[in-house]
Amino acid sequence: MKENLLLLIKLQECDSQLVNLSSKKKKLPEDTDKLDKEFNSFKEGIEKNKTKYDELKSRHTESENKIKRLNEGIVKTKERLLEVKNNKEYQAMLKEIDIAESSRGNIETEIISILEELDKLSVLVKKDEEIFKQSKNKYEQEKKTMENDLNTIDADILDWEKKRIDLRKNVAEDLLAKYEKIKKRNQGIGVISVWKSVCNGCHMNIPPQLYNELQRSEELLSCPNCDRIMYFQDMEKPA
Ligand SMILES: [Zn+2]
Repeated sequence: MKENLLLLIKLQECDSQLVNLSSKKKKLPEDTDKLDKEFNSFKEGIEKNKTKYDELKSRHTESENKIKRLNEGIVKTKERLLEVKNNKEYQAMLKEIDIAESSRGNIETEIISILEELDKLSVLVKKDEEIFKQSKNKYEQEKKTMENDLNTIDADILDWEKKRIDLRKNVAEDLLAKYEKIKKRNQGIGVISVWKSVCNGCHMNIPPQLYNELQRSEELLSCPNCDRIMYFQDMEKPA
């Protein structure tokens, strides 16, 4: 291929890389932020069953304590019952015991349903923990990749800029000016490959004669539609 065209192709690669890298540099902190937010809201969501489980667990402990206190009360009242002098007082104490026993019964029924609910929740919590573990791994890996990218991006940009400066030194000034002008008008792409008669920049067909010429001529040719400098590239040939 023509030497000057080869230089332009390499220059185009540098320019495109630099555009990509600088937009990536701008976007990476936003992406990291988004990843954090998504993970945090996922975390909040998946902790719901665990929160419910913990609440129920402490309700269970409370209920057990209530029963303990009721039992103690009942024992004491029964002891006092032996010392009672009059019938009225005796009846009142029996009633007291009755009330205590019936609320103990209610609490025991409640405990049974709490235990059933805890059983169901513990299965869900276990599943959630597994899902959370996997998602956390994925999140941490993605985050690490992003951080690595952000750490190396400045060095990458410097590398490509250096390459770019070296290349520009070797391209003739008028050609460089032409390339810059076309590039500016065409979303940053001044040099483009053509394969099977199609310009890969504007995706329009190249006339057959021009396509033939492109594969043979030493002249620099431009796409009749988008004006980009063209080069022939066999896309089926391994690079
Ligand atoms: Zn074109």
